[in-house]
Amino acid sequence: MSELRKDPITGRWVIIAAERKRRPLDFLPGKEDTVPPSGPCPFCQGNEDKTPPEIFALRDKGTKPNTPGWQVRVVPNKFPALRIEGELNPTRIGLFDMMNGVGAHEVVIENSAHDRGPSDYSQEEMGKVIQAYRERMLDLRKDDRVQYILIFKNHGRRAGASLGHSHTQLIALPEVPIQVKEELSAARRHLNNRKICLFCDILKQELDSSERVVLENENFVCLEPFAPRFPFETWIFPKEHRPHFFRISRQEEKSLSEILPQTLRRIKVALGDPPYNYIIHTSPLKEESGYYHWHLEIMPQLTRIAGFELGTGFFMNPISPEQAAQQLKEVG
Ligand SMILES: [Zn+2]
Ligand SMILES: [Zn+2]
Ligand SMILES: [Zn+2]
Repeated sequence: MSELRKDPITGRWVIIAAERKRRPLDFLPGKEDTVPPSGPCPFCQGNEDKTPPEIFALRDKGTKPNTPGWQVRVVPNKFPALRIEGELNPTRIGLFDMMNGVGAHEVVIENSAHDRGPSDYSQEEMGKVIQAYRERMLDLRKDDRVQYILIFKNHGRRAGASLGHSHTQLIALPEVPIQVKEELSAARRHLNNRKICLFCDILKQELDSSERVVLENENFVCLEPFAPRFPFETWIFPKEHRPHFFRISRQEEKSLSEILPQTLRRIKVALGDPPYNYIIHTSPLKEESGYYHWHLEIMPQLTRIAGFELGTGFFMNPISPEQAAQQLKEVG
């Protein structure tokens, strides 16, 4: 079993996933750029027995689990960072806090077609993926040990995707990650001082100036943030103030399934299919105070973080968000 260890200086949790060392090649420098995956694709239709048994699927009526006939399929990760079985057993060793690597690590196989990704998806296809995200969150939040659920996508080997077949990952954590805690405390401060949600306030200012807004639809705004860490970093915000992603309405689900592929298509056209990551930031599961505002962050991987970023938490970004917004508007 993996272990969670807390850095007593920063409060940051680290997963020591020693089990995953079954893939030692992963550590070789530059490997992710050069070695293509070998063997039959475990995520393709007909290879359902190559993955652990499915947890959730949207499939044709009358088809059985773990057989062909699905549109979206969710399975446990074969090399999980955290496992659902076992007790957390939080322990203190002098100054140090640690616990067992209990949680969940799942894979959402987004589409049965091997060579399609979110930038190719129709609204209907993306809608099924979003539905799977929501259903899995609703199910995992019933587990008392789970404090936070992160949904994240790695597209392209340089962004961490180890298989070409488009998929998203979900990790359910027994601790709230430090990045979310930072966003939460900023939101709490803003609400106390200005009596308005920080994210709603940002959205209002961005829509007023429209300088960094790339596109919007009925329920969502896609924009380049004022201080982006990465070139073409792009955020998608729901207009409606909602702390928890899993509480999105049917209408919002439809709107998001439209704007997300549109945004990714623009990034693909403007930048030539770059590797990217996207993540969904949502409120911690047990947090009901309501001052968080869920959102989706897209981070194209065009630059590498290096010594300066690692040593400071500052980021060096060669393109202004105003220029990036302009370019993404033009390719529309
Ligand atoms: Zn495949
Ligand atoms: Zn808000
Ligand atoms: Zn965020």
